[in-house]
Amino acid sequence: SSFSDMNISRPLMKALGLLNFEQPTPIQSATIPIALLGRDICACAVTGSGKTAAFMLPILERLLYKPKETSVTRVLVVVPTRELAVQVHAVAKQLANYTNIQITLAAGGLDLKAQEAALRLGPDIVIATPGRLIDHLHNSPSFNLNSVEILDVGRVFRRADEGGNPTLCPYTTDHAVKDLAAVSLDKPVKVFI
Ligand code: AMP
Repeated sequence: SSFSDMNISRPLMKALGLLNFEQPTPIQSATIPIALLGRDICACAVTGSGKTAAFMLPILERLLYKPKETSVTRVLVVVPTRELAVQVHAVAKQLANYTNIQITLAAGGLDLKAQEAALRLGPDIVIATPGRLIDHLHNSPSFNLNSVEILDVGRVFRRADEGGNPTLCPYTTDHAVKDLAAVSLDKPVKVFI
């Protein structure tokens, strides 16, 4: 089905048009309708399959349709490297271009003071790398995770079942599903592409 069949809202449809994303990719078709229902998802797909938009679009939809009066951070996306953080941030900004949603990058190697100032404003979405996230949590008194509703940590692990080194990282999708089930009401939906 198409993005409009998925009931993606107008400002996001406009951004998709500008990016020339005409049809959802298979991982997007498999995950977006489920994520829009508010279910937890554990998904696997190869690099370059469109995973960024697969998780960002439902996140943006939720922020648009459940707006908050106050400026607080509602979404935390943790990624393993600075390069990936920059990339995810860029895609998120493009998709959110026609909305008021604020997105901040909190990654190492970039100006700490500028990031602190941006985080003080309570951006809706923070895209972070683990080390810099911990720095900010320790050193920026006004930044906390009290209001986070959506946590995306899927990219932090190079999982054993995704071609990672099972000795270095024995974490598999089955572990992820179990861990998610422990903290959420529903059993997460497993999607493999
Ligand atoms: P990703 O796997 O998220 O890194 O995306 C891989 C590439 O596919 C990026 O260059 C995206 O801009 C592009 N892409 C993602 N979704 C779509 C789509 N629905 N249609 C066309 N290109 C897409």
